[in-house]
Amino acid sequence: MIDLHTHTTYSDGSRTPAELVAEAAAAGLSAVAITDHDTVDGLAEALATGERLGIAVVPGVEINLEHERLTMDLLGYFIAGTPSDQLKATLVELRSYRDERNTRILARLAELGMPLDAAELASSAENGAIGRPHIGEALRRRGYVGSISEAFELYLRRGAPAWVDRRRLALGAALRLLRASGGVPVLAHPGIIRTDRAGLERVVREAARAGLAGIECFHPRHDAADVAACLRLAQNHDLVVTGGSDYHGAVKPGVRLGIGAGGQPIPDRVLSELRRRARRLREAPPDAR
Ligand code: AMP
Ligand code: FE
Ligand code: ZN
Repeated sequence: MIDLHTHTTYSDGSRTPAELVAEAAAAGLSAVAITDHDTVDGLAEALATGERLGIAVVPGVEINLEHERLTMDLLGYFIAGTPSDQLKATLVELRSYRDERNTRILARLAELGMPLDAAELASSAENGAIGRPHIGEALRRRGYVGSISEAFELYLRRGAPAWVDRRRLALGAALRLLRASGGVPVLAHPGIIRTDRAGLERVVREAARAGLAGIECFHPRHDAADVAACLRLAQNHDLVVTGGSDYHGAVKPGVRLGIGAGGQPIPDRVLSELRRRARRLREAPPDAR
C-alpha cells in the first residue's frame, strides 16, 4: 500500500513531516508522497525520516490553479532533489497571494465581529502555506464555531460572508513550471472539479496537450463513477494513474493513510508506473515530451 497525496504542518496538515512519515511506516505503507500546498520546505525532513525508517518518500507539491473559470489542483512529483530557482520563486509568490488573501479574510471576519490575531495565525503553519483551514481552526479555538467544517460552511466557503478569492496560476503556466523543474504533473482529485463529464474531458484533453502526465483516480472523495471516468481519461490521453488519501491528520478526521476511493488501499504498482513515467519524461528530448 502507498499514498501519493498528503499534507503536513508546512501547509494545512496537523502532522510534522517526520510524524507523518513515521505514521505511514507504522501503518505499513511502502511509500508516501508529501504534497503540501505551495511549498517544498517540508520535504528535506520527510526524506531524511524516510531514509531512517526504510520507507520510500516521494517529494511532491500541490498547486491550485485556474482554467476557464474552474479552479483545480495539480500535484507535482519528484521536484525536490533540486527545486529550481524558478519553482522556488514561484512558490514564494503563490504564498504571497495567500498572505494578501488571509489579511483580507481577517478584515472581513473582524467586520463580522470575530477579530483574530494575525500573529497567532502566522505561527500556526510551520513555515508556510497558511490557508483557510488555519483560519477555521482559529475561529474554532476562539469559540466562534464548533468545528473547522462549520467555519467553512458559515464564513469561509466560496460565496460565504468572509469568502475572498485569491490569485492563481493558469493551467499552462503551472504545467510548464512543474515540467521545467523536472516534475511529473498530475491532475489532483478530478472528481472535485466543479464541472460535468464533458467539461472534465475538455480540461484533461487540453492539459494533456500542455504537458499533463498523470491523473489522480483513487481519492477518498471519488465514487465508483468518478474512478471509472478517470481511468478512461487516463487511457484515452496516455496519463499515468495515481492515487492518494489527501491526508491532513486531525484536520480532516476519517481520512486514512493509504486509502483511496471506496475504502480501497492504493496499490504499490501505482508508484512503479509513476516512476516509469518520470524516467520517460527525463529521458525524452525537451520537445518530444
Ligand atoms: P485554501 O488553500 O486556503 O483555499 O484552503 C483550501 C483547503 O481548505 C483545502 O485543503 C481543503 O481541503 C480545505 N477545505 C475546503 N473546503 C472545505 C470545507 N468545506 N470544510 C473543510 N475544509 C475545506
Ligand atoms: Fe487538493
Ligand atoms: Zn491536497
